[in-house]
Amino acid sequence: MKSLSITSGALYDIDDIIYFLECPLKYHFYSQLKKLKLTPDVKKKLQDVVKQTAFHLYYRLLVDQAIPSFAYLADNFNNLWYPVRPPLKNLLPYLWGGYADKQKYAVQGMESLYEFYQHEKQKEQFVIAVNQDFVVEAGDVHLKGCFDLIREVDNILEVVLMVYNPPAKINLERDIRLTAISYAFHHLYKLPHVRLNLFSLQPIQEIYTTRNVNDYLFFNEVVARVVTSIQQASYYPRISSECAECFFHFACQLWPNLPPLAEIIKTKGAVKK
Ligand code: SF4
Repeated sequence: MKSLSITSGALYDIDDIIYFLECPLKYHFYSQLKKLKLTPDVKKKLQDVVKQTAFHLYYRLLVDQAIPSFAYLADNFNNLWYPVRPPLKNLLPYLWGGYADKQKYAVQGMESLYEFYQHEKQKEQFVIAVNQDFVVEAGDVHLKGCFDLIREVDNILEVVLMVYNPPAKINLERDIRLTAISYAFHHLYKLPHVRLNLFSLQPIQEIYTTRNVNDYLFFNEVVARVVTSIQQASYYPRISSECAECFFHFACQLWPNLPPLAEIIKTKGAVKK
């Protein structure tokens, strides 16, 4: 859209666009956490680790065309969840440091992975790409994102968006994250409209949809307007029913007279990525 003044060629993360649409002030807080390489809390970290571990099943399918054992997935989960193992001789400091809590989440993660493994191991599928980053033009800017999985199932080509929990409410036909990956796939590979699969890990659920050219025009307009607001630093709270669950609820109540971000982080317990 040419009438809006956008710094041409700037690069944005698709997550930036999505967070901003959810709430401009939430986007602002997230972008500060990102600069500090922090993630909101241990639950979000667990969700990331389960998803990263699930990718290992598809990496093996891509390379060997064979399903690995569950033990292989469990090993990968442990390596990601416990990058530094506690020394056996001196476990006490780790109990004080939240290690027991970490173990509780590890059990949840392992259960989710087992359910995922049972679901995927029987499936006839041909994996084309896993966890593949991309950059795509969208109007005057570039967007970066990631295809979680591209595969053929029963001779149907699909692009999979993997999430941990299924969304409580979803407008499947207009969900902007699904539109974004379909837009990127269509523009990068010049293929007709592909099947989109919103794949939830806990509980397992797969739901399908597609997008068309009108959705892509709409998407370009949305991106242009969001990017203009980001470049003008136009942040404001978008109060909704989601606020009760928002990690930044505390900071938001103090806005615009916020204490230093470090204090907010200490209060809410953000963890290293
Ligand atoms: S509490 Fe609500 S308004 Fe405030 S940042 Fe979170 S989502 Fe936005």
